[in-house]
Amino acid sequence: MPGELAEPTGVLAGVDPADGGFAYAPSRESTDLVAIQDRYGLWIGGEEVEALSGRTITTTNPATEEPLAEVAEAGPEDVDLAVAAARRAYEDGWRDLPGRERAKVLYRVARQLQERARELAVLETLDGGKPIKESRDIDVPLAAAHFFHHAGWADKLEWAFANRTPSPLGVVGQVIPWNFPLLMAAWKLAPALATGNTVVLKPAETTPLTALLLAEVLAEAEVPPGVVNIVTGGGATGASLVSHPGLDKVAFTGSTTVGRQIQESLAGTRTRLTLELGGKAANIVYEDAAVDQAVEGVVNGIFFNQGHVCCAGSRLLVQESVAELFLDKLRRRIATLRVGDPLDKNTDVGAINSAEQLGRITSLVEAGVEEGGERWQPACALPEKGWWFPPTVFTGVSQSSRIAREEVFGPVLAVLTFRTPEEAVAKANNTPYGLSAGVWSEKGSKVLWTAERLQAGVVWANTFNKLDPTSPFGGYKESGFGREGGLHGLASYVSLGRR
Ligand code: NAD
Repeated sequence: MPGELAEPTGVLAGVDPADGGFAYAPSRESTDLVAIQDRYGLWIGGEEVEALSGRTITTTNPATEEPLAEVAEAGPEDVDLAVAAARRAYEDGWRDLPGRERAKVLYRVARQLQERARELAVLETLDGGKPIKESRDIDVPLAAAHFFHHAGWADKLEWAFANRTPSPLGVVGQVIPWNFPLLMAAWKLAPALATGNTVVLKPAETTPLTALLLAEVLAEAEVPPGVVNIVTGGGATGASLVSHPGLDKVAFTGSTTVGRQIQESLAGTRTRLTLELGGKAANIVYEDAAVDQAVEGVVNGIFFNQGHVCCAGSRLLVQESVAELFLDKLRRRIATLRVGDPLDKNTDVGAINSAEQLGRITSLVEAGVEEGGERWQPACALPEKGWWFPPTVFTGVSQSSRIAREEVFGPVLAVLTFRTPEEAVAKANNTPYGLSAGVWSEKGSKVLWTAERLQAGVVWANTFNKLDPTSPFGGYKESGFGREGGLHGLASYVSLGRR
């Protein structure tokens, strides 16, 4: 189990008790509920099995750098077994099970996730570094909501796709990233299972533990053996899975670079593909926006989950007439964010997920400074052990700066200004990505005018990062294709014959 973190951190300039500010007492969530095994096998055919490869990877607590567990690293022969188990489960009954029976199974999974919510939240925070208040209030409840939502669809597919005969695709290979490990597993599994497919899922190498606990939840919920198989490992395991000839569909969430490789490897095959990739979202603040509300939205947009969010509002576009006022308020708000122990219920910004990701963030921030951007960070005490990066704001950024073009995937905001709505839209769309965007204005017509012109899969108005299982999520351009959530998300897991 992880050791205690050093002194509580995040008491920042401007809120020092000595200056008449206030400090929070530590409020650390207990880890007693969570039993982490020393070693985990793969989940194939409804049981935990040793990897034939004999190899393991170590998963680490990013807030302490202490190892949490050894996890099997599946080789191609293990992936073969998992795909075969999924095929058997598909042909032996899951595809033919009446929708209402699949629905019952999914409802049980959803309820079991709620039942074990605290345990899952603590484990997510230990393995991934995100603040407990986020894993507790967002990741786990939303994961349950995805199962509830899709349980509701399972017996209504013929109404969902009127005058068509929806049928499952078969065996689906799913690969997910480390930023929302349990939630991404739920996004992928729930629609696939609701529509009668079976799955081989590969979690990310730095955050496999909640997916392995989910395997236990699935068994408790009586998901038949082989319907969901979980193979852990790194990029090589993912590559063996997505190129496996026994798959009918691949669903991938991760970086654009890997997404592109997968698309190339599947070109010319019959395997269907959906890709949820990176983003560089613009958060547009007009001069008539409710300033304090917009400041909150911008903070949430970029510092939620340490900025490890594909749809993060990493580019602030603020109208020139209010830029000075807005940035002043923004900096003052950021100076109150509490960075530190992710298990503390008061923490706003947790640990960076891995040393590798910290290296990526650091080098892009250095590039931002070299390119002439002005970097601002609050006075912020970081723990000595673990991987941390302070909230960072760049002003004086040009559209061609790397910090404005590349996905940092960390707590780093690039600020640009604009004068007219046309300029805001042109700058917002000046990106190879197109996943999400935000618009802040008091005027509904201006919000709609802007939203219509933004090339982004999701546009939030006077809010940000609102994720909901009923609403489709996905990208344009280099952010990928296909949708997850809502009716659109279901459509990518069925084949639609004509009646
Ligand atoms: P990554 O692409 O390196 O890894 C994602 C997953 O793919 C991991 O499980 C990894 O092991 C696996 N993988 C790596 N190489 C592979 C290969 N050659 N073939 C198959 N699988 C392979 O990305 P990451 O650094 O783990 O995640 C961050 C990225 O994910 C960011 O770019 C972010 O924007 C994106 N992301 C997108 C969404 C979305 O919904 N659009 C959600 C979360 C994260």
